[in-house]
Amino acid sequence: MSVFYGKYDTNYMMADPPPYSELRDERCPISPGKSKQQTIYVQGPPIIIQIFRDTPVRIQCQYCQAEVFTATHHENGAVTWLACLGIMLVLPLGCCLIPFFIDGTKDVVHTCPNCYQEVGKWSRL
Ligand SMILES: [Zn+2]
Repeated sequence: MSVFYGKYDTNYMMADPPPYSELRDERCPISPGKSKQQTIYVQGPPIIIQIFRDTPVRIQCQYCQAEVFTATHHENGAVTWLACLGIMLVLPLGCCLIPFFIDGTKDVVHTCPNCYQEVGKWSRL
């Protein structure tokens, strides 16, 4: 009957040490005996974050792929209605319609002048 005492076992101590390559951790990517791993970095197209504001911006249209300056027009938005309600509480009746004639209270919609698709929207809120 033999008792194994782990690494202090005399039989183990007497035996020749295992080759260096077997001592290395298999998970280690640089262990000898394994083929060299090569890391390949693939660079995709640059990511352009387009921020739409109240002025036309230069974009590549996502629909027709043309590089254009956007056409803009204004639509009533949340600020328009909030201004309307605020004026309604303070000023005489009828004045609450003023925000609907002021572009500065409206949202801005950007469209492609080539294909007329909506490519972006800027909300003032
Ligand atoms: Zn387009």
